[in-house]
Amino acid sequence: MTQSRPTPAAGLTDTGLTRTGNEDGLLIEPPLYAVADGMGGHRAGEVASRVALEELLANAPARLDAKALGRAVRAANRAVIAAAAKSRTRTGMGTTITAAIVDGTNIAIAHVGDSRAYLLRDGRLERLTDDHSMVADLIREGALTEDEARFHPQRSVITRALGSDPNMLADVFEVEGAVGDRLLLCTDGLTGMLADDYIAEILDLERDPQKAVETLVDAANRAGGYDNITVVVIDLTDAAAEQTSLRPGSAASGRRAAARLLWIIAAGALIAATVWGAYAYTRTRAYLIDEGGVVAVYRGVPGSFAGFTLHWRVKATNVAVDRLAPPVASRLRGGIPFSGLADALRRVDEMRSSTQTTASPSPTATPSP
Ligand code: MG
Repeated sequence: MTQSRPTPAAGLTDTGLTRTGNEDGLLIEPPLYAVADGMGGHRAGEVASRVALEELLANAPARLDAKALGRAVRAANRAVIAAAAKSRTRTGMGTTITAAIVDGTNIAIAHVGDSRAYLLRDGRLERLTDDHSMVADLIREGALTEDEARFHPQRSVITRALGSDPNMLADVFEVEGAVGDRLLLCTDGLTGMLADDYIAEILDLERDPQKAVETLVDAANRAGGYDNITVVVIDLTDAAAEQTSLRPGSAASGRRAAARLLWIIAAGALIAATVWGAYAYTRTRAYLIDEGGVVAVYRGVPGSFAGFTLHWRVKATNVAVDRLAPPVASRLRGGIPFSGLADALRRVDEMRSSTQTTASPSPTATPSP
C-alpha cells in the first residue's frame, strides 16, 4: 500500500441559493491560482469572468513575479473590454480578479475588485488584499465597521474592476509565507456570508483542502447563499524540507516509521472491515460536550459502537459551561449532536456570544438578494 501525497490545493464554485446562474469562475493551474466574480446582465458576467481567467492563464508568468502577474491582469482587462465591445448585451460587463502565483512558501498576488486573498497562519486569518469597493472606502474612513459592511445595501458596489477602464491598474505585491500556512482566494459570496473568524475556524480544522472548500461553501449556503460562492485553498509546502527525511542517515528512524505504519495499516484494515459503515457515517457527524467545564468540539458520535469509540477530538473552546443556560449545560453533559462540523462550530459561536456581554447586539438587518 502506498500513501499518495495529499492534494495541496482545491477549489470549488457554487451558484448559491438565490442566484439563477453562476458568474464566478476559478482557475487552478499550478503555480497559478485565481478567482473571478463577473457582473453584467444577460449572463454577461459569466462571459467576463471566463474571458478574464483565460487571458490571465495565457499571459501569466511561469515563475513568481508579481509585476508580470499584474501585466497578465491588465491583458485580461483589455480582453474583457474587447469582448464587451463585440455585443450590445455585454455592455457594462466586468469582473473582479484575485490571482496568485505560489512558489513553495512565496506568493505573488495581483488583485482588482472585492474578491479576496487571505493567509491562514497558526489558526489566524490575515487579509492580504484591500477591497476596491464603496463599503471598503467607508470602512477606511471610519464611517462603517466590517460587520456593518457585510449587511450594507451598497456592499456589492465595486470601485475597480476589469472591463471598463483600459488604464486600470491591479494591486500587485509579494508575500512570504511559511510551511503550514494556507492561502485562501475567494469571492464575496463567501465573505459576505461568513465572518473572517468563522472562515478561519473552518480552514484551521478542515486540514484536507478539498474538505475545506466544501465546508466553506456549505457554510456560506447555510448562512443564506445570497450570491455565487467561489473558494480556492492552497497549502504552502516546502519541497526541500520534505526531502530531508529521505537522507541515508535517517534509515533507522525510517524503519521504525515503517513498522509503525504497518501497525497502523493492520489496525486500520481491522477497523475498516468491521465498522466501516459506522465509521464513514460518524466521520460526517459532530458533537459538543462538556469537557472539564468548557465546551469541546468532537467529530463523530459520543459513546462507543461495537466496542469502538467513534469520535475524534477537534478542539476545546474557551466557552465555559457554567456560563451557559442550565438546560444547555445539562445537555452538554451527554453531548449535543450535529449533522456536521460547520453546524457544531456555528453553535459554539452562538454559545460564546451568549456568554459575552449583551452590550453589542448583533446586526438585525437582513441582506436582500
Ligand atoms: Mg459576488
